[in-house]
Amino acid sequence: MTRGPDESGQPDREGPRDGPEDRLRRFARIWSRAIYPATATSMNRAEFEEYLIPLARTLSEALRARPFDPTPALAIGTALVTAHCTDPGALPRSLGVVDSYLVLYCSPDEKFPVEESRARCARLQHAIAAGFAQALRERTLAEQEAVSRAALSAQAEAEKALHASEALFRAVFEGAAVGIGIADMDGKIVDVNDALTQMFGGLEHHVRSRKVTDWAHPDDTPGVWNLQGELARGERDHYRVEKPYYRTNGTVLWTNLTVSLLRDPAGEPQYMLALMEDITERRLLNARLRYEATHDALTGLPNRTLFFERLRAALAARDGVARFGLCYLDLDGFKVVNDSLGHEVGDRLLVEVADRLQTCVTAPDQLIARIGGDEFVALIMDPETQEDVTDLAHRILDVLAEPVHLEGRDLSVRGSIGIVDGPAGELGPAEVLRSADITMYRAKAAGGNRYEHADPEAEVLAITRYGLTNSLPTALERGEFFIEYQPLVRLSDGTVHGAEALVRWCHPLRGVLGPDQFIPLAENTGLIVPLGRWVLSEAVRQARHWTFEGGHGPLRVNVNLSPFQLRHPGLVRDTVEVLKEAGLEPTALCLEVTESALIGADETLLKPLRQLADLGVDIALDDFGTGYSNLSNLRRMPLSTLKLDRSFTRGMQHDPADPVDIKIVEGVVSLAHTLDLAVTVEGVETGAQAEHLRTLGCDTAQGWYYARPGPPERLHALSLVDAS
Ligand code: C2E
Ligand code: CA
Ligand code: CA
Repeated sequence: MTRGPDESGQPDREGPRDGPEDRLRRFARIWSRAIYPATATSMNRAEFEEYLIPLARTLSEALRARPFDPTPALAIGTALVTAHCTDPGALPRSLGVVDSYLVLYCSPDEKFPVEESRARCARLQHAIAAGFAQALRERTLAEQEAVSRAALSAQAEAEKALHASEALFRAVFEGAAVGIGIADMDGKIVDVNDALTQMFGGLEHHVRSRKVTDWAHPDDTPGVWNLQGELARGERDHYRVEKPYYRTNGTVLWTNLTVSLLRDPAGEPQYMLALMEDITERRLLNARLRYEATHDALTGLPNRTLFFERLRAALAARDGVARFGLCYLDLDGFKVVNDSLGHEVGDRLLVEVADRLQTCVTAPDQLIARIGGDEFVALIMDPETQEDVTDLAHRILDVLAEPVHLEGRDLSVRGSIGIVDGPAGELGPAEVLRSADITMYRAKAAGGNRYEHADPEAEVLAITRYGLTNSLPTALERGEFFIEYQPLVRLSDGTVHGAEALVRWCHPLRGVLGPDQFIPLAENTGLIVPLGRWVLSEAVRQARHWTFEGGHGPLRVNVNLSPFQLRHPGLVRDTVEVLKEAGLEPTALCLEVTESALIGADETLLKPLRQLADLGVDIALDDFGTGYSNLSNLRRMPLSTLKLDRSFTRGMQHDPADPVDIKIVEGVVSLAHTLDLAVTVEGVETGAQAEHLRTLGCDTAQGWYYARPGPPERLHALSLVDAS
């Protein structure tokens, strides 16, 4: 035998195991017990419970319906108003019962996920509240109509049936659920009905002893007293506003207020009639719903929605002087905590962080919000100086510095902050947030536990990089890369000795991009290996073409090697294969390796180069002079050429040349020749330079003075001219 819920409305534990109909009735009984005392219905308890059963059924069906639709619950709000369940408390109690018992007694089968039931239950509550508010409003309007009509007809009929209509007016006046007050044209209150007295806390003399103008409240909508003034002067016949009042006990009463002018038969203003509906609860409910929609359930901080609302307001240009400041915080290493210690610990850590962040803001124009998993923002409306924003970032890092004690261990929390600040009215909220996000990543990339200020140039770079990185992998397959060749000229006789292959990317949207714009990306993404292999085979094929079909004699080709290719195990095999396929001698190929790639190189790194050198491939040390290589180190490297960086020879562009530069180059050339290395000079831009370098004994030169990088055919033409 199961027991029903006891008198306090608590369900017993067996309840949910009964049949569906039993459970439905049980739910209706709990509901009825909860709200019956707060109704003004003429039904008795049993009748009222019967009344609730179909309502309970509607809710139960809505809870399990597919697809889900909360609209049937609107009618339940209406039904509650119809049954006069309009006392304060009736709606919150109903919502409370639905919240606590609906899922328990009416939930769909076990397969239905509980979270889904809970979410549906919340939406049903919102619909009930909305239906309730709507019905109450309609009823109040109807009552207000009736009162106005009675009052007006009482006047019009004054002479004929004064007593009868006055009696009618009194009946409506006393019985109305809306509050009614009548004041004379001086604002002195003449009469109030019971409902109004109740609304104000039940002391009639307190209400009566005051004048209309005494009822001002600090939260009055602007202009309400102008409206009242116009009405009092007979310039308008009515107005309608939402207005707050202080109750006798000091609490606040919110009303829907309609004030009408009653004129005497001659048309002169005689009385003011105020009709008020108590909307305090509805406002509280709205406030609660709004709070839930704008706050994060875990930490209680404002959420993304509220943050964007405030950011938008902060960014709206007001007289062009306002500024804004934003700190975008992302915790360092939060994922590790979550993955290793579990979500529960992760959640508690977030709550602790949220609490600490809250202590960083003090003024009402500052806001801390949680906008993602471990992402928080601090917003300052109109900071006086940039330091205000930087100070806030400091405070945030400071409060995070203290480890968080959880589960018997000290977790150290760190964060990276991106700061964006500036004048309002220039950027939109999305742009500001993106900029803050990119800046935050810069702080992270710099090691974390720090802040960075937004830097438009760095952002453009980051965005371009992102875009390029995305399209890089397919670019090779689509054949978007091509090679330009820049001739290498023998200084002794000015003939073309070979050419350096320089890769370019013909990007479908951005046009031709230079290697500096995408080689670092290719290195980061690993694409450098296939790309480098493609450049090698393409350049070797081209060298073969010049040599055998150009009618000029052998031309060599220089190909750049990235440090990543150098470490790739397939380098030697690939190179040998490419040469073989083209039928080209290894001596026709020169691989350029930068000085920086070889700094501190050990034997393992040098081995593939040594193997290639043994096969007859030339190895050039590129950009020589820009690194810090120890010249004596050069001896143990398998090199045949030094390429002097163009910074060395800049001082020789004009006559007279810089004597120090002359000395340095002289020294390098003699050392190189001692080590049996040829010297190539890069970046030769003037005839003067070329002449100096020739006298200094350099072997080859490359630069705009001879030719800019260009298509392979140009090189061919150039060497034919030389040859003639
Ligand atoms: P690098 O190897 O030092 O190439 C020489 C760069 O100097 C080229 O720039 C060339 O256009 C430029 N240059 C040539 N003559 C002059 C001159 O007289 N004056 C001035 N101011 N500049 C001159 P580019 O083509 O932009 O290449 C830049 C760098 O990209 C190259 O520097 C090289 O390190 C790298 N690179 C180019 N192609 C490849 C490739 O296929 N693979 C790899 N790994 N790197 C490449
Ligand atoms: Ca090079
Ligand atoms: Ca170079």
